[in-house]
Amino acid sequence: MDPETRVFRNGAIAIEHDTIKAIGHSDQILAEFSSHEQLIDLRGQLILPGFINTHVHTSQQLGRGIADDVDLLTWLHRRIWPYESNMTEEDSFISTLLCGIELIHSGVTCFAEAGGQHVAGMARAVEVLGLRACLAESIMDSGDGLPANWAGRTTEQCIQSQKELYKKYHNTADGRIRIWLGIRQIMNATEFLLAQTRDTAKELQTGIHMHVAEIPYENQHVANTRGVDQGTVAYLEKIEFLDDNLLAAHTVWVNQDEVCSLSKARVKVSHCPAAAMRMLGFAPIREMLDAGVCVSLGTDGAPSNNRMSIVDEMYLASLINKGREVFSKGITDPTALPAETILRMATINGAKSVLWDKEIGSLEVGKKADMIVVNPSFWSMVPLHDCISSLVYCMRSENIQSVMCNGQWIMKDHKILTLDESEVISMAKRAAAELMKRAGIDIPSRMNIL
Ligand SMILES: [Zn+2]
Repeated sequence: MDPETRVFRNGAIAIEHDTIKAIGHSDQILAEFSSHEQLIDLRGQLILPGFINTHVHTSQQLGRGIADDVDLLTWLHRRIWPYESNMTEEDSFISTLLCGIELIHSGVTCFAEAGGQHVAGMARAVEVLGLRACLAESIMDSGDGLPANWAGRTTEQCIQSQKELYKKYHNTADGRIRIWLGIRQIMNATEFLLAQTRDTAKELQTGIHMHVAEIPYENQHVANTRGVDQGTVAYLEKIEFLDDNLLAAHTVWVNQDEVCSLSKARVKVSHCPAAAMRMLGFAPIREMLDAGVCVSLGTDGAPSNNRMSIVDEMYLASLINKGREVFSKGITDPTALPAETILRMATINGAKSVLWDKEIGSLEVGKKADMIVVNPSFWSMVPLHDCISSLVYCMRSENIQSVMCNGQWIMKDHKILTLDESEVISMAKRAAAELMKRAGIDIPSRMNIL
């Protein structure tokens, strides 16, 4: 994933503390570092940069399965809002731990939080997990039908709260945590909030994470109320909100003009193929990549995808975008979004999307030691005729053997070293049941359960 796309056979990597000191062929590295303190033999395995999940709702993990096969309005008003608005900081802590376990098992070393209620709980969990993260608060200063405890927030309170979070948590956990600004989505944001967010992000030199152009109704609503002909992207361009520090999630309903605007402003896009297929539609990802937009991959939250595995998203991203060519060209195109492009989206594009590419996203001298060990001798990847394509089309989370973040092993031989998995699972079951009761969410029973 370096600029020359180098892949070393019989490679080796030297790591000192949290930093990559050297990378090359193993005979050369072994000669150079003959006085090494510790040598780890990973013969027969593949070493990759850690994957970066650029859109995940860690707080929604306890809500996995609460909104399957329901329409969008039910999803939002009767399941997700009651769930999120009844969460405590402790729930958020437990939810993020549970989500983190799944992220680590799928080879993720860094993620971008899409925006939740209790950043303090998330930050505490990230500190424990050993992951790297860009955390954001869920921010809304307007909108219809919001839960009572969210509805009264002023624009000033939204900005102030985020500034305080930045002061408290930015660059904490050995530099693994960064604080971003959040905008939940356009229909919950006044123009004043957007302008304040844009200016505050510049002042703090941080990023903005926002759901953009998710459904056709959103674009219609924007066109009807904000004085533009098209939708959210056109409006954001008009108010000078599009910039290289904006991470736009989903970005499904955009036309070619808007794709050009995204490219011109160097906006980053997080493509979440599973959630898009289930709830939103087909995003023009090939067109965005052709136009030079930096597109990365995200899982979205557990209630819109259920699987928080970036490995599954890589597989889906390739298939969906090949199949989507039927709509634009009349025939499928198996050459669209090849494996090397997908790998780039999950690594170096992910790093650019979270504005961290100087330090992560590739295995290069001077970058942080965020890397994963893949075991290709597990049944799902045997035989290995084309190593690069197998990583996208064959690899499962089960092939991820070990994970290192910031120079520390956080998973070794499938065992997470930073916490007790079974303890988190018990805590999560308890917290999820209590939260459902408190939120008054009832899942109608399916089939004839006796
Ligand atoms: Zn989302």
